Order: sequence, then structure tokens, then C-alpha cells
Amino acid sequence: TKWVYGFGGGSAEGDASMKNLLGGKGANLAEMASLGLPVPPGFTITTDVCSEFYANDRKYPEGLKAQVSEALSKVGKTVGMDFGDKSKPLLVSVRSGARASMPGMMDTVLNLGLTDETVDGLAKLSGDARFAYDSYRRFIQMYSDVVLELDHHAFEELLETYKEGRDYFLDTEMTADDWVKVIAGYKKIVEEQLGRPFPQDPEEQLWGAIDAVFGSWRNDRANTYRRLHHIPESWGTAVNVQAMVFGNMGETSATGVAFTRDPSTGDNHYYGEFLINAQGEDVVAGIRTPQTLTKRAREAQGEDEPSMEEAMPDAYGELVKVFEKLENHYRDMQDIEFTIQDKKLWMLQTRNGKRTAKAALKIAVDMCKEGLIKENEAVCRVDPHSLDQLLHPSLDPDAPRDQVLTGLPASPGAASGEVVFNSDEAERLAQEGKAVILVRVETSPEDIHGMHAAKGIVTARGGMTSHAAVVARGMGRPCVCGAGDLKIDKSETFFTVAGRKVQKGDTVTIDGAEGRVYAGAVPTVQPELSGDFAELMTWADKARRMRVRANAETPHDAQVARDFGAEGIGLCRTEHMFFEADRIIAVREMILAESKKGREEALAKILPMQRSDFEKLFRVMTGLPVTIRLLDPPLHEFLPHSDEEIEEVAKSSSMDAQLLKDRAHKLKEFNPMLGHRGCRLGVSYPEIYEMQVRAIMEAACAIKKETGEDVTPEIMVPLVAKREELALLKVRIDEIALSVLKENNLKLDYLIGTMIELPRAALTADFIAEEAEFFSFGTNDLTQTTFGLSRDDSASFLPDYMRQGVFERDPFVTLDREGVGALVKIAVEKGRKTRPDIKLGICGEHGGDPDSIRFVEDAGLDYVSCSPYRTPIARLAAAQSKL
Ligand code: ADP
Ligand code: MG
Ligand code: MG
Repeated sequence: TKWVYGFGGGSAEGDASMKNLLGGKGANLAEMASLGLPVPPGFTITTDVCSEFYANDRKYPEGLKAQVSEALSKVGKTVGMDFGDKSKPLLVSVRSGARASMPGMMDTVLNLGLTDETVDGLAKLSGDARFAYDSYRRFIQMYSDVVLELDHHAFEELLETYKEGRDYFLDTEMTADDWVKVIAGYKKIVEEQLGRPFPQDPEEQLWGAIDAVFGSWRNDRANTYRRLHHIPESWGTAVNVQAMVFGNMGETSATGVAFTRDPSTGDNHYYGEFLINAQGEDVVAGIRTPQTLTKRAREAQGEDEPSMEEAMPDAYGELVKVFEKLENHYRDMQDIEFTIQDKKLWMLQTRNGKRTAKAALKIAVDMCKEGLIKENEAVCRVDPHSLDQLLHPSLDPDAPRDQVLTGLPASPGAASGEVVFNSDEAERLAQEGKAVILVRVETSPEDIHGMHAAKGIVTARGGMTSHAAVVARGMGRPCVCGAGDLKIDKSETFFTVAGRKVQKGDTVTIDGAEGRVYAGAVPTVQPELSGDFAELMTWADKARRMRVRANAETPHDAQVARDFGAEGIGLCRTEHMFFEADRIIAVREMILAESKKGREEALAKILPMQRSDFEKLFRVMTGLPVTIRLLDPPLHEFLPHSDEEIEEVAKSSSMDAQLLKDRAHKLKEFNPMLGHRGCRLGVSYPEIYEMQVRAIMEAACAIKKETGEDVTPEIMVPLVAKREELALLKVRIDEIALSVLKENNLKLDYLIGTMIELPRAALTADFIAEEAEFFSFGTNDLTQTTFGLSRDDSASFLPDYMRQGVFERDPFVTLDREGVGALVKIAVEKGRKTRPDIKLGICGEHGGDPDSIRFVEDAGLDYVSCSPYRTPIARLAAAQSKL
């Protein structure tokens, strides 16, 4: 078996299509090498090795060692060096690389292969002892941290103390001699902590690092990240071993990161940061403040330090050519890592860049207009989930604000919350339902859970490509980073900015688009949904097959939905109308009535109110279908519960408290979810449904007369298990509907259908379809009844199920294809067999979830219905699942 794939020197054994086997980083390094870009040679150990490693008790497959050493000597030949050689030592980096970029994995180890002997060889060869020892100290520290897992504070402290003793400020002030002394100190620390000396055998170093990468695939941080991002454990990681190039060879060397377009706004200009005389992770770690890439950015930010364009014009010119080549090749915005070794440019990584939702939209629309991609590709470039960011508020420009702090605008959006200083606390408070803003000096992969829990993130250190910035953008959290004036007190109970104190627990508001933090909660406004958004949505609408409706009861929600492009209402829950203050009294009278006559009297009071509700709804939705569900919840939900409440209600509505109490007691059920609800109410108390149907039909007639336009009421009977239930109710519904039409002397189409939310209904859908003109899958209840799992009670154990992998996803968020999905498919097939033109839709929470929408497309339903704010998400997801 081939376990190792080489690249470099103008060719490669792998390519970009091999991400599954080579990981993202390895596949793209191979692709760049084949494109003829300057990539230091190296090789990738495949993800299959990772799988074998775990399948065989952490042992490597046979033949791997030989393949690695062969690949390594080939790399040495290409660069004219030899791994472990005393005079011409090949140094390598060892880099993890999963299919999807994954913080939480082992960090990269640079300069591997340096020992007490080879470091002297490197010094002689380069003629630069300072550079050689700088590389060696970096290596010892990195290797000790990420491979040997020693405490890194000791190393940092030693260096700090050393620099203070010499009055140095920057690492670049250190001389070769200084580094030699620090190295001696480092080695002592290693020996003390490890109980043996720092490994002096390059071979041992290499395998130590490779072991560590594969080992990190299942460390806690990686596990957490995978869980949050639904990355299967079976994917495994690859390992990349690559010849070193050196950005720390003095003033003509540098290292940097760049995006081919602005990842925050999507603007079409190069964007990035670089550091002179530095290596790899210096940029990301925020140790020194990086310089800008372009002159334009330097001027915009009012920086003094020259940009790369100005300081290294030739290398910059090369880089720009690479940008163009890569963007045209990948036809997407690229996120690039590069190093300049003595004026020569080397490419170390490229990938499709993470971006904000706003940037994703702009880039997709721009690239389509530039002719780089087609409309349908543009539609697929935007993650429907991410639209959420855009559909949410930003700061009200007219609201007064009290600015506390400025920093870099690292990830847009506005959020308010209590200040917290550590990630565990952020997570805990968020679980209690509090909004928190995580404030840190800087973040690391250990903060992922806290960043996820927080509404927004603020850091004191780090640039636009720092860990905090990158992760926050990916998560869609507003983030302000590099706020240099922010001083977090050691006690972690307050921070100060220029003498002003902000306590833990104080509310602040952050504006990630502007890079500002304000005291208190600043009001927000809804976003403008025109421009790129509107354009992309019209492309999506062209591409999709399914209709998108909204779940709405109030005229306001219905209007929001229509503005967001909803094509009707898929679920109007009539009981929501019953709770309003002016009608709950009549509803309670109805419930308390001892006789049918008493009930009818109360219902007569409710009728005009319901009718006017429906009129308002139909007016917003003229020309579109509106599905109205008849009363569904058990009646006791409308009664007061505690004795106190009962007294109060009795007093305010002049009812008898004892009567109320008795009735509430009588209606109490052991398991209301499976109790006297849904169509069972209609069977027991036909007059309730009769009133509702009358209200619906009278409203439809009124609006037709008023507007001249049709409304198509779709009257939906909930919780049907047997055909007979629907048959019984349908006779009455038709009777009333027809008599209302006759009274109004109007013709108007209406449909009668049912929810499919019980397994029995799904399994007998062929019979039910004899009565039902449409099915709407109520996947919330269908999930509950299929799993025998109460959504409201599952919160206590669902996390256990998720953590232990019994559920990969929360089935109430993403539809369970295997079980619930199978029932849906059966119902679709059986329903269509009886009634080929039966209308089919889904109205559970799943209707707004992109993954579930994909299933709904596969199942061939006619529409999805979701909450009004998710309508655009559903439109886009519906398009993508068709494409
Ligand atoms: P990450 O996935 O955390 O970005 P990488 O493997 O990309 O980790 O490594 C981080 C940085 O280390 C790179 O951006 C680059 O600057 C530096 N680096 C990695 N390999 C080499 C190399 N062979 N020569 C020089 N620098 C390297
Ligand atoms: Mg890293
Ligand atoms: Mg990288």
C-alpha cells in the first residue's frame, strides 16, 4: 500500500481532489507544486495511516517507515541537504492536516532535525550563527510544548528574564551568543521536567512529532471541535513533512498570511499581514504586531511601518502573481500562508478562505459577475446557516453610545452581554441562559467552547488573522481583537481602559464591524436586505424546486415572512390567538361550560375575534395559500395552574374559584403530549372546530370581497392517527364551509388536510389520503412519537447521547433520516398512491434547517415551512439541495 505521497520540485503525486486521503493542507500543497508554484518539497502521510494507527492499538502499518525514509531522502536530494547530516542538515516542519481545517489538533513543529551537532552545521552553511541558534531555540521550545507536552511557561519565563537582564525589548535584539545561553537554559528545563535530555536523534524527533500529530486526532480539544462541527472521528488526519524555508534569516526574510479578497467585507482587494525576520506562527500568535500587506491598507489604517508592497516590492510582485494564479485556478477566495527566505517567495499553504456571511455573499456575486463562476455555483457558495448573521441586527446608528474601547473589526455583528474573563465561566453562564461577552488577552484552541458559548469576543492582543479573529468569523460571533488599551486585571474580576474600570458581570455591547466596545446594552436595528443579498436570492429562487412558506400567526410575523420571500403560510397555530388577553376569558368560559349549549355561547363570543385574526392574516397573504391548523393543545393549557393564579383569574373574570380549580384538576393529564388534544378535541367537542372553520371561511370571503383576490385556506386537522378521525371531522368542516360560501354567495377554493405527526398516520397514509387533500408533516411531534422521546424532557439526557455518540445530531434540530425520514417517505409514497396530486409539506422546526431541507428535497415534498426569519435560509437551502 502507498502510505506516503511526495510533492515539490514542480510536480506532485497527489492533487487537490485527494483531500480525503491527504487532508486539505497536503492536497493543496500537492496541487500548488503541480501548478509550478514555489512550494518547499515534502511529503504527506495519508489519513489511512491514521485510521490504521487507531485500528491497530496505535501501531503503524507495515512499510510506512521505509516509505517515510525514502521520501525524506528524496526531499533532501531536491534541496541538496540530508536529514541528520552534520554539515548540510535538512530541516523539516511537521504539520497536521485533516480534511477540514481543525483547530484543536497538534500545532506545527518547525525546524525539526536540529541538534547540538546539526545546529553548528546550519550556522556554518548559512554563515549566520544568530539565525541558526534562533531556529534551534524555537525548535526546542515548540517541540517541548507540542510533542513532549511540557509546561511552556517555564520557557517563556526564562526568555523574559533573560531579555530583561539585558534590557532587550524584542526577540530580534538577541544575538547568537544570547541564544546559545537561552538554549542551555531550555535544555535544562527539559531535562528537569522530562527526566531525560532533549532528544538529539533527528529520527527520534521526527517520529515523536508524527506520533504526536496522529495522537492529537483524539485529544479532548479535537474531540470537542469535531463534535461542534459534526466532523466524524473516522476521517482521521494526515501528516505533512516539509523542507523548511526560513523567514528568520534577517531583514530580507519574512513570513505572512494573506487573503486574495477581504474576508470580512468581501471587497476585491488583497488583504493580509506579514512580519520581517520571523517564523510561521509569530504572525498568528500576536507576539509582535504584524505589518500590513498593501500600501492601501497601511494608509487606510494610518500605520507608520511600511507595508510589504513598499518594503519588499519584488517579493510582493511575485506574491500578487500567485494570488491571481490561485484565484483563477481554485475559482474562490484563497487564504494563503507564505514565507520569504532572503527575498525569495515560498508558498506554504492555500485553502478556500473562511469569510463572514457578508463577504461570502459579496464574493459569490462578484465572482459571478467577473465570469469566474456561474449563478448556480454562486448560490452554492453561501452557507445557508451563515445568512443568520445577516438577518440579525446591527447597532442602531442613532442610539446614544458610551465607547469604552476600540480594537480591530475582526468579525462583524453586534451583541450585548455580561463581561466574563474565562471560557469555562462563559460556558456555564450561557447554559444558565445568560448572554456573555468573552474578554481575553488572546484566545487559543482551549477557548473554543467559551467562544461558542459567548455572544461576542474581545481580545487585547492579536491581529485580524489571530486565532480569536479566525474562529469568531467561522462561528459568526462578533469579535473585536487587538484592543491594545485593554488591561485585564490579574484577579480576573475587572478590566481597565485608560483608567476606566469595567467589572465582571457588567453589560457591554460590541460592534464587530467597527471594532468597538460600548458600555451597557446599545439598541440594534435590522439589516438592509438589498444588494448582493437580494441578487443571490433571486438566483436561488430560480434554482429551487420547492416552495418556501412560513409558520406565522400574527399579521406582523406574516408580513416579515412575506418580506423575506415566503410564498404562503404553512402553519398558523390558532391556539396562539386564544391566549391573547381579550379572548382568554372567553376561552376559559368555553372550557368551564358544563354543556354543549354553554360552550356554544362562549364560542359565539370567540368567533368574531378569530374571524378578524384570519382576516388580517389573509390580507397580508393575498394570492397565497394559508394553512390553518385547528385547535391542537390540550384544554388545560388555557387554564391557570397554581392556586394563586386560579384565585387571581377567578377574581378578574368573576368566575368561581372552586369551579376553576375542579375543572383544571379534571383536565390534568399524566401525559398531555399523548392526551386529549389535536383532532381528539374535535371529536369530543365538535362545536370548537365548527366555530374555527366558520371564522376561517367567513374571513376568506370577506378578504376576497375586499381585495378581489383569492385566498386559499387550507384547513388542517392535527394529530390524526386513523382515517376515521379525519372522515368524521371532514363531513362537518365541509358542511360549515359550504354553508358560509352559500351565505356569501361566493365561490372559493379551500382544502382539507391533515398533519402527519404520528407513526400510525404515516403507515396508513394511503387510507388517510382518501380524506386528506394535503399532508403537512409535523416533524416535531413525529420525532417525539417515533423516538418515544419528549422534546421538553430530553434536555437532561440528550447531551449524554450526543457526547457518547448515540446521536450525532439533535433529532429535534436535524431530521432523523433513518427513522423519522423513513416514515415520511412511506407516507409520501402511500399518500400519492391514493391521491396523486396530494399537496405535501413540512412544518416542523426542521423546515428551517438546511440539512433537513436537503432531505425534504430528496423526499420530493412540495414545500417547507419555517419561522419567518429563517425564510431566506430555507430558500437558499432549497436551491442548494436541488443543485
Ligand atoms: P496551521 O494549520 O496551524 O496553520 P501550519 O502547518 O500551516 O499550521 O503551520 C503554521 C505555520 O508554520 C505556517 O503558516 C508557516 O508559516 C510555518 N511553516 C510550516 N511549515 C513550514 C516550512 N516548511 N517552512 C517554513 N515555515 C513553515
Ligand atoms: Mg496551528
Ligand atoms: Mg496554516
